[in-house]
Amino acid sequence: MKVRVLGCSGAIAKDCRTTSFLIDSDILIDAGTGVGDLTLDEMCAVNHVFLTHSHLDHVAALPLMVDAVASQRTEALKIYALAGTIAALKAHIFNNVIWPDFSVIPSTAAPFISFHEIAMGQTICVVGKNIEALPAVHTVPAVGYSVSAGGPCWVFTGDTERNPAFWRRLEQLDVAMLVIETAFSNREKELARRSLHLSPATLASELDLIDEQHKFPIFITHTKPFETELIMGEIAQFDEVLPGGSFPHDIRWLNAGQLFEV
Ligand SMILES: [Zn+2]
Ligand SMILES: [Zn+2]
Repeated sequence: MKVRVLGCSGAIAKDCRTTSFLIDSDILIDAGTGVGDLTLDEMCAVNHVFLTHSHLDHVAALPLMVDAVASQRTEALKIYALAGTIAALKAHIFNNVIWPDFSVIPSTAAPFISFHEIAMGQTICVVGKNIEALPAVHTVPAVGYSVSAGGPCWVFTGDTERNPAFWRRLEQLDVAMLVIETAFSNREKELARRSLHLSPATLASELDLIDEQHKFPIFITHTKPFETELIMGEIAQFDEVLPGGSFPHDIRWLNAGQLFEV
């Protein structure tokens, strides 16, 4: 299973694209502005979109992508999300004001998109992948995902603050790599707390919850562009700041364009 990072930034700027991952050629996890790096043919090949939540940085390119490729597709693009996320998309984006309601266009019998409600803890099986909705703690209904092609999982937290239920489930999974958000620096930890995101300080206490026997590479995502260097510096000091010294985790930086074989 291939995982291509299309976007992993917390905001936009030149070379900064917001959250989206392409699994093999036909599944998107989130549809942030990184989707704009796909060619028309690559966009046409996407049949399934799994959304973590309704925030714009995770859905911004979805309506534009549908418009770009719908006329070339023969089946509806399937969008999987929590009920609250689907309700938000219908009310605020595909509402015939911000964008056409492509769930009834060109006809209700054969629309360009279809919505598929998922529940926390549910596993959806599509094109040989098992995709499980994992707990997330955010300001709107939200999930993370684990994706497996039968072997070890690629795991993404989505947007979240401290999340003990997530770590409890992770202990039961065979994790190949974890992508975890750290949206703000410790300087902005109050903003992180209010907006239910992680900062390096809360990230450190979350990583403390990982069972010692579970070792996997951890990739940091969703940093705000103005704060990325600061966040990286604060995380680089983990080894010194954590009680007991020697930091046990393998932490790396995620970059748009990276391709992982999981
Ligand atoms: Zn969010
Ligand atoms: Zn976000």
